[in-house]
Amino acid sequence: MRSHTATLPYPGEVTTPPFPTPTAAEIDVVSSQLGRAARGVIGIAARCVCGNPTVVATAPRLDDGTPFPTFYYLTHPAATAAMSTLEATQVMPELAGMLEEDADIAAAYRRAHEAYLADRAQYGDVPEIDGISAGGMPTRVKCLHALAGHALAAGPGVNPMGDAALQRSSWSPERCACVDPGAARGDSGE
Ligand SMILES: [Zn+2]
Repeated sequence: MRSHTATLPYPGEVTTPPFPTPTAAEIDVVSSQLGRAARGVIGIAARCVCGNPTVVATAPRLDDGTPFPTFYYLTHPAATAAMSTLEATQVMPELAGMLEEDADIAAAYRRAHEAYLADRAQYGDVPEIDGISAGGMPTRVKCLHALAGHALAAGPGVNPMGDAALQRSSWSPERCACVDPGAARGDSGE
């Protein structure tokens, strides 16, 4: 059933909760990727081949009280740029059409939504975002960044729209495009 995802260019390693506490070096890399201080990062949910984060897990309520629905947040600049490029093409209506026409994909997408909420719920209930996941799930395709972030974290075969976006992406976690490869390991000494 999942054989069609076997060739996706990212690892099938599942990195859903619980996560090890991020190191200072990892948080530093995320902050430099975002161009601002990382907020509410509770785990590194996916990585580049060099070890740097590509997706962070973010607390559903930030320290200042703000509800934050996007539990799996794509941080890698090359990845976010690739998703923005895709969003500007005909990929959005194409993916929406897949959802409309294929009941199996629609059902898988709903399961992805439920898995997303279940992962996030392990870090507390936030009534303001109850039942709200990200990226347009469970019935729309609105943000490829959020959907690809979930697919990278959960591994192939969980989020069909995120998988489809990554299949079409010029960026891959298997080809390092980091500014400072391996910096998250914090042991380069350079
Ligand atoms: Zn890298």
